[in-house]
Amino acid sequence: TAFVVAIDGPSGSGKSTVSRRVAAALGLAYLDTGAMYRAATWWCLERGVPLTAGPAVAAEVAALPLVMGVDPVSPSVHVGGVDVGEAIRRSEISAAVSAVATNLAVRAELGRLQRAAIAAEADAGSFSGGRGIVAEGRDITTVVAPDADVRLLLTASEDARLARRARDVHGTDDAAAVHATRDEVLRRDADDSTVVEFQVAADGVVTVDSSELDLDQTVRAVLDVIGQ
Ligand code: C5P
Repeated sequence: TAFVVAIDGPSGSGKSTVSRRVAAALGLAYLDTGAMYRAATWWCLERGVPLTAGPAVAAEVAALPLVMGVDPVSPSVHVGGVDVGEAIRRSEISAAVSAVATNLAVRAELGRLQRAAIAAEADAGSFSGGRGIVAEGRDITTVVAPDADVRLLLTASEDARLARRARDVHGTDDAAAVHATRDEVLRRDADDSTVVEFQVAADGVVTVDSSELDLDQTVRAVLDVIGQ
């Protein structure tokens, strides 16, 4: 029977890497919902829509030609046939994405797409053949898949999260790199927190704190919670 794992956490918690590894280990599909908000942001900027124009942004997202590839070994994001996997990681997108993600009509639309993707994998499953899926983001345990079989909040101390983001973005966690990521990360988490709660675990959600764990240990801790 299909298995759904929901993982939420703030930026720099390591949830994308950990979720991919867990999905690969269990033969499950992987859905990066943050990539969907990033893709929506990329599309609105491409179309020249001011991100503060709420209804116009919502209309663009309602017609978003988005295709998510859910193989955890090589996840992909295409918009209108264009591979945007790299473009959506650029700093312009990281800086702009909260403006789109705090649009409630956008959340309703992307939440609908996320539920459909999760249901599809839990059913016949284009990737997993019906085995199931690991979906990660900010509101998966609470809003998108509150009935998931396993719900996890991946947290880490602010220092650990900033160091991780600095290594991802700048390839080093020296003081200058941490300083350069600091404002973006803290501002984005503060903005996102106005519409979703991902700092505190909801009822029934298990917290895994990765501050003192390396990647392998974090994956192990998550697999333990899942019971694998
Ligand atoms: O996980 P990632 O940092 O790529 O997410 C990018 C952004 O997408 C977040 O900063 C947030 O604004 C938005 N997001 C969201 N809800 C989710 C996943 C991501 O609002 N479930």
